[in-house]
Amino acid sequence: MIVYKFGGASINNIERIQQVIEIVKKIPENEMAILVISAMGKTTNALEKVVASFYNKNTTEALALFNVIKNQHLNIAKYLLVQQYNTCYTKLSDIFTEVEWLLHDNPVKTFDYYYDQIVCSGELLSSTIIHFYCQENGVASKWIDIRDVLLTDNNFRDAGIEWNVTEHKAKQAFLKDEKQVYITQGFIGATSDNESTTLGREGSDFTAAILGNILQANSVTIWKDVEGVMSADPKYFPEEVYIPELSYHEVIEMAYYGAQVIHPKTIQPLQNKNIPLLVKCFLNPALPGTIIQRNNQVQLPPIQILKENQVLITLQSLDFSFVGGVTMNGIYAILQELKLIPNLIQFGAIAVQICMDDKPEKITQLALAAAANFNVQVEKNLQLFTVRHYNAAIVEKINRENTVVLRQQTPVTIQILKQSEQH
Ligand code: ASP
Ligand code: MG
Repeated sequence: MIVYKFGGASINNIERIQQVIEIVKKIPENEMAILVISAMGKTTNALEKVVASFYNKNTTEALALFNVIKNQHLNIAKYLLVQQYNTCYTKLSDIFTEVEWLLHDNPVKTFDYYYDQIVCSGELLSSTIIHFYCQENGVASKWIDIRDVLLTDNNFRDAGIEWNVTEHKAKQAFLKDEKQVYITQGFIGATSDNESTTLGREGSDFTAAILGNILQANSVTIWKDVEGVMSADPKYFPEEVYIPELSYHEVIEMAYYGAQVIHPKTIQPLQNKNIPLLVKCFLNPALPGTIIQRNNQVQLPPIQILKENQVLITLQSLDFSFVGGVTMNGIYAILQELKLIPNLIQFGAIAVQICMDDKPEKITQLALAAAANFNVQVEKNLQLFTVRHYNAAIVEKINRENTVVLRQQTPVTIQILKQSEQH
């Protein structure tokens, strides 16, 4: 059994969907496959705008924005489908109607609740179109509403998986009939009360890993528009190279430091069951891609990662007492409560510095709470630059930077926090 995850970019237009079907057709007939589908292209971003208008009680705007999304999907379905168009149209209409009903309501619950009820439609729509396009092409696919399988808590927008029930339901839903192509949605789930939930942006990778883990897949493949995992984001670093092989450990580190390769939660479920993760290019499936698995000892090039929009909080004890002891417990408790995760911490005698993603409201709350015991300084507009497996040339280049705010180094990893270029 294999799991294939198709991200938004792989299905964002007609040609790409046609390419995806070619990949699906090549799945050996005796293999059971689960296709985990994301929302098309930038649909999730567009749906986020619908949610914002709805929550601002601008029903007309919300409906108009949703209408654009609706037409995009209908146009694609119309272009791709002939025999299957009418049945597909009915299914899509059901999804549209459900969202539109909701958009006519007055918001009385939390923003995050509505976010999940509306945004989940992106994956439902895309997977429906892909399913009918499979049928149209003679691929006997079965569409599964993952919300009947993947159960979560009600922490909307960042829902936690209820592993036991999900395992039970997934084994029922997916193993009944082997040699099947199942089509389902990434990123979304539901509570036991049938309320839709989402797993956090880019969460489809995680869905693929959850299903791979539970159903003991032979491999999970993430189809992307790049050759494989790259050593750096080409947006920032011209010298990026393709990496053929990585360990689970390396990838989890890369994701932690901010590499946009794979959703950070994806690795653990696969590592636990020793399931290889492949990153392959849907534009050229013949390329080997990157294989991520256990224990590889390969020599890695320097891996460069940039995390933007960072903030540095410096907390200095008011009375010259040492930090690091009792006073820090309070700080950790606040961080936990606000769900703020430090990207880097540096201790001194009477001061501690914490670098985090800049979430303005939460940072203000943290600063206010800390002010009881510390003199608080907040520096914004920073970038956190991390290099794993660094070499002398890179260190030298870093040392030439004159806008460095903080530097931290281990034998494997060097990190510098610096002022953003646009500063
Ligand atoms: N469609 C969702 C997003 O854009 C989930 C995903 O693509 O993984 O974040
Ligand atoms: Mg995506």
